[in-house]
Amino acid sequence: MQVRAAVLTDYGSLSVQTLELAPPGPGEVLVRIAAAGVCHSDYHVLSGDLPLPVPMVLGHEGAGTVEQVGPGVHSVAPGTHVVLSWLPPCRRCTYCLSGHPELCRVPAKAAAEGTLPGGQSRFRLGEEPVYQFSLTGAFAECTVVPESGVIPIPPSVSLEAAALLGCSVLTGVGAVWRTAHVRPTESIAVFGVGGVGLNVLQGARLVSAYPRIAVDISPQRLEAAREFGATHTVDANREDPITAILACTEGQGVDAAFEAIGRPDTIANAFNAIRPGGRAVAIGVAPPNAEVTLNAFAFPSQEKMLVGSWYGESDPARDIPPLLRLHAAGDLQLEQLISARLPLEGLQRAFEQMLTGETRRSLILPAG
Ligand SMILES: [Zn+2]
Ligand SMILES: [Zn+2]
Repeated sequence: MQVRAAVLTDYGSLSVQTLELAPPGPGEVLVRIAAAGVCHSDYHVLSGDLPLPVPMVLGHEGAGTVEQVGPGVHSVAPGTHVVLSWLPPCRRCTYCLSGHPELCRVPAKAAAEGTLPGGQSRFRLGEEPVYQFSLTGAFAECTVVPESGVIPIPPSVSLEAAALLGCSVLTGVGAVWRTAHVRPTESIAVFGVGGVGLNVLQGARLVSAYPRIAVDISPQRLEAAREFGATHTVDANREDPITAILACTEGQGVDAAFEAIGRPDTIANAFNAIRPGGRAVAIGVAPPNAEVTLNAFAFPSQEKMLVGSWYGESDPARDIPPLLRLHAAGDLQLEQLISARLPLEGLQRAFEQMLTGETRRSLILPAG
């Protein structure tokens, strides 16, 4: 079938093209995309910071309706509403079997090659393959993904809201609950309050962490942070974030700090903002060659920890249903994350707005 898609034709250059989409192979599912969130990781591919094969269909945070299933698919059928996962696990390797499907090497290898696990992308332009970002390619009218990359959801859930669960919500909330294991009354700080950082804040609010300090350089993002649970905000253009965080925590530093940008200097800030025995969590995706300089003495003498968190250590099949129950109960904000709805042609504008801090999450609606 033919589908319209926003294609990264070369680093820095996007265009909406009509591509050929092959039918789903064994164990694959064709999904009609209702909405797809614009994430910083998409921008990293556009800018070339995350070097992946081009041409490529970007977009990895989506939801839609199953339209066709390949041989052997039983968990979903045409008509099923689904959230996409950009990290469909194999369910057989040591990582998957030990409760860390986010570290499964099968999707990691396919993502690096821009294909599905079988080694092929389902998009083509003429004879040439067009690759899929992180086994998804959600900025398209339809895409083909592995069966383990779709999580069925009830038809009563808004697909626009559900799309956000696929990346920013799992990543932010999971970093608080699963990586840092934040407990009630513990203090937290988050550096960078874009889509992921806002979800760090609501994850921390849901476990009654206090205080919850948001650090950013955008006044609009800091305003959003207050809506998502920040009790204190720090404009890093106006004051030194470490001094401000120490002032909020009786000079101790926070129990847990989260870095949701992917920059060496803010990763170092997160480490410097924690108390002795605290944990700093690196969530943001830094360029592959970036390096961080930290005080080595602080590791043993203050028992400080710096750990990474990939996809919030989430298993979408396990974690999305309970998050949807929290949303239905009014405890998890999803609609409030959405600040713009744009057609495929609006992707470039969505990136520009993301960089200036004007937006929370922009949604691309491929059907227009
Ligand atoms: Zn993402
Ligand atoms: Zn695996």
